[in-house]
Amino acid sequence: MLLTVVGFWGAYPEIDSATSCYLLEKDDYKILLDCGSGALAQLPKYTDVFGLDALFISHYHQDHIADLGVLQYHFLVQNAIHQTNKTLPIYGHNEDEQAFSKLNHQATNAIAYGPNDLVKVGPFTITYLKTKHPVPCYAMRITDGESVIVYTADSSYLDAFIPFAKDADLLITDCSFYEGQDGTGPGHMTSEESAIIAKEAHVSHLLLSHHPHFGNRKQLKKEAEKIYRGRIDLAKAGFHWSTSSH
Ligand SMILES: [Zn+2]
Ligand SMILES: [Zn+2]
Repeated sequence: MLLTVVGFWGAYPEIDSATSCYLLEKDDYKILLDCGSGALAQLPKYTDVFGLDALFISHYHQDHIADLGVLQYHFLVQNAIHQTNKTLPIYGHNEDEQAFSKLNHQATNAIAYGPNDLVKVGPFTITYLKTKHPVPCYAMRITDGESVIVYTADSSYLDAFIPFAKDADLLITDCSFYEGQDGTGPGHMTSEESAIIAKEAHVSHLLLSHHPHFGNRKQLKKEAEKIYRGRIDLAKAGFHWSTSSH
């Protein structure tokens, strides 16, 4: 499987970039994890948007769903141009019924997932873990039967991430704060907390994402390296990870 970082900022995008959005591909099957602000302008660099097979939403904060409406318009317009009737399934939790209902549109179809579900789409199987965040949010563990990617989505530190991320080939964390800071108020993690999960879960590769708009972000990686000895990367637009590259 191939993962591409489409957007990696927390809160809002900076110039020519996007907030949370990740593209996952295998055997021409393409899914998107979250669809943050700026994602629709970045996505065509990596794939044909109309070729997406499914979208998974972790929670309904704007930095994860801001471009959902324009993604729906993209499908609407492309269906009109190609005289097709393609519908994009969008998976989200329904603990916020109003937000969940907005996943439905002429060309998109809302599908609810719950904490104990195991969702199979194309070559991927996805399981969930409820995170610690001001609104209901779910981390995802995604496998194609060969390798495993775990995406914490937004969360304060949780011990439950350690078994959930166990032996993952790639762990993508919410790394919104620097070492020594406290992210529990807004419900985010630090570089240290990201590294502790990577170390304790014995993951192969740590990708620090959901970046802050303050400080020197290179420092996040240095701080994580003090704790976790495996490979660490700072998320950036176009970062690729594939099964064969680890
Ligand atoms: Zn966020
Ligand atoms: Zn959030």
